[in-house]
Amino acid sequence: MLDDLFDYLEHIRERPVWQPIPHEVRAAFDEPLPQRATELAVVHEAFMHKVLPYAVGNVHPGFMGWVHGGGTAVGMLAEMLAGGLNANVGGRDQMPVEVERQIVRWMRDLFGFPEGASGLFVTGTSMANLIGLLVARTSVLGEGARKEGLGPEGQRLLAYASAGSHASIAQAMDLCGLGTERLRLVPMNERFEMDIGALCQQLEADRQAGYRPFFIAATAGSVDVGAIDDLGALADIARAQGLWLHVDGACGALGMLAPDIAPRLKGIERADSIAFDFHKWGQVPYDAGFVLVRDGELHRRTFASQAAYLRRDARGLAGGSPWPCDFGPDLSRGFRALKAWFTIKTYGAQQLGAMISGTCELAQQLKRRIEATSQLELAAPVNLNIVCFRYRAANSDEVNAEIAAELQESGICAPSTTAIHGRLAIRAAIVNHRTTLEDIDALVATTLAMGEAAGRTRGGRGAMPRAGPGPAWKHTPMSSTRSES
Ligand SMILES: *Cc1c(COP(=O)(O)O)cnc(C)c1O
Repeated sequence: MLDDLFDYLEHIRERPVWQPIPHEVRAAFDEPLPQRATELAVVHEAFMHKVLPYAVGNVHPGFMGWVHGGGTAVGMLAEMLAGGLNANVGGRDQMPVEVERQIVRWMRDLFGFPEGASGLFVTGTSMANLIGLLVARTSVLGEGARKEGLGPEGQRLLAYASAGSHASIAQAMDLCGLGTERLRLVPMNERFEMDIGALCQQLEADRQAGYRPFFIAATAGSVDVGAIDDLGALADIARAQGLWLHVDGACGALGMLAPDIAPRLKGIERADSIAFDFHKWGQVPYDAGFVLVRDGELHRRTFASQAAYLRRDARGLAGGSPWPCDFGPDLSRGFRALKAWFTIKTYGAQQLGAMISGTCELAQQLKRRIEATSQLELAAPVNLNIVCFRYRAANSDEVNAEIAAELQESGICAPSTTAIHGRLAIRAAIVNHRTTLEDIDALVATTLAMGEAAGRTRGGRGAMPRAGPGPAWKHTPMSSTRSES
């Protein structure tokens, strides 16, 4: 199995990025509950032929859809070790908890947070955003809200995020009982950042109307275009008005590892909480979200149960309190910290930072290619590692949606689409450390071919380029055979 996966990673370029799932493959997973044992080798065989070839494709260097990390062989091996150890990292006195605490301390240092700050591995930034919001709720309503619910004061609370914020912010408002209507979506400026003037006006108007603003969710690396809100200005406003500043840095926050990107995150060190994913720019295998909270005691008081706390001991297995389960809703938790620890230790912060800068440099190269190609146009400024563009056409939305679908089905490269100012754009998010200039060239060339074909015969799929077995392509340092497999 290990050999199969090493081969998979080493020869990933020879495969299509993605391919549609044949009917019979999908149907094979509609069998009744197996009553009898099956040989492991047979189960493995089924995985190799029916699962592995039909994944999303985010390991592939041509994958540029949504915002997905590429993972590494190092992370895969750490997952194997974690699986064998089968640690339940909810608590108790064990080294796996210490590994997680080590990462909390590293992240505390990376983001300039104080010693009392807390951190926790979670599934992803969606959960980390929810935890940030819940701690903020404790800060404004006190722990009483855990027993009594939101109460009359809770009915007055309002939260703020940019119109470009991720849907998980609104979802967190829903899940914590405040309701999505209590989230003000502040308009963006021409750089797709939260418009600070508009925020101030909204805050003022809401106070006049009897509401109580309490929470700003800043975005560091927006999902559509990679925009970073003005974190310094938002930290000033939050301090002056006594608001909680949460940063959704799902992809962008780990830009702190890159010397050329870190200055653009200035102000993040003043946030009250930060949510981000090791599984995006950090290249740690899914899932590995993380939340960092400045006031660790407030964080603990938001989740810790008094009854559970009393059962802790000063010695023996039940020592070492507080435990990770005191900082989030999960009691049983896997050993996510190990794959992050292996990734950071094996590559080092410098190499991870260089890889992050490298994806932004590729985005700039793509931007220049688009600017130099008359058939293409940029749809948004290129801030970080995300490039939104269009093939110029009369019925632009239709043609570009078709091009994006054709690109995905071609198996050559897989961007996704988004709406920019109400118009559809092809979005290439370069998150995978394996992506190189050749992939950028392939994206541009294939887009042009698809665009021409779409113009000639709408829906004429026969003439579209398709991926085939190719040469063993050059690898970036992080994915070289030596360092990755
Ligand atoms: C990906 C993303 C999220 C959600 O993170 P998950 O790990 O998928 O839960 C939230 N915000 C932004 C800006 C993102 O890019």
